[in-house]
Amino acid sequence: MNGPFRVGLLLTERCDIACAHCWLGLGSNGVDMSLDEARGYIDQASSIPTVEWISFTGGEPFLLPGLLNELVGYASAKGLRTECVTNCSWAETPEKTKETLKTLKESGLDVVNISADDFHQEFVPFENARNCFEVAKSLGLKTVIMSAAQAGGTLRLAKIINRLGPDEIGTLGEGEPTEGLSAIAVETGFLPVGRGAQLPRDRWLIGESKTEGPCRLVLRDIGIDPEGELLACCSAASLLARGRLGSVVETGIQQRLDDAGEQSLFKILSEQGPSSLADSLGISWREGFVSRCHLCHEVLKDPRLDEALV
Ligand code: SF4
Ligand code: SF4
Repeated sequence: MNGPFRVGLLLTERCDIACAHCWLGLGSNGVDMSLDEARGYIDQASSIPTVEWISFTGGEPFLLPGLLNELVGYASAKGLRTECVTNCSWAETPEKTKETLKTLKESGLDVVNISADDFHQEFVPFENARNCFEVAKSLGLKTVIMSAAQAGGTLRLAKIINRLGPDEIGTLGEGEPTEGLSAIAVETGFLPVGRGAQLPRDRWLIGESKTEGPCRLVLRDIGIDPEGELLACCSAASLLARGRLGSVVETGIQQRLDDAGEQSLFKILSEQGPSSLADSLGISWREGFVSRCHLCHEVLKDPRLDEALV
């Protein structure tokens, strides 16, 4: 298994909106990461040769603008590339958006990751996402547009791209070169886990994403939550005990990853994928799942998994 390439720091569990599909189930309450804690994790990440990126996420990391700016600068000074994930609730006007993003750009920010879809736009005007996209572009920041789709939804990726500027945005997964593009857009069905599990099944977007095949992200696109717990990935597995790898406060990230890498669970996920484990458990995975991560969540929460791994 290759080493981690990105460490996502969940700067806060707080969010100023409460999307219906939020698999983390976040809202107005929750814990924040402190400046010293986050710096310590960045120090650890920068000593792992394969780590290229620090992603600042949450919750909504722009609820902590001073902390975010400080940490972008800290990570950049260590030679790491930086990304901020946002719901754009703060980007109410082009002027305010410019003030915020210019400061971050000057601190070394590389990428703004914008969430835009039916769920986010229930709370945040689409104009905010447009402000963020346009201002980021004008400042020379790269953008990623992340969209969680639902069956029968109105704001699908093609519409978002059309509203933002079709010539500048490449979609990931079509196999087309993305060089020269300042923006990339990615759409996946919302995960029916966490709060998303309460959405009706006829809204699940089934059949548009692969469920088979190895996971290229496990133990590579890792996260650290505000309590200092290492997460095996930045998706649904991190909600479950099996995807939570222990505190990195006293035992470091590298040691936690080395220990996890010895577990057959993670070897199978990275070499064969959750569908292989589903076969062992007799779960019929070819239908009824939104994505590989949805299947993975079902497999990892199955109480029979320990037996299947022997
Ligand atoms: S999906 Fe993102 S923006 Fe929506 S409630 Fe969850 S953390 Fe907040
Ligand atoms: S397949 Fe599993 S381990 Fe891989 S990213 Fe999705 S939830 Fe995480």
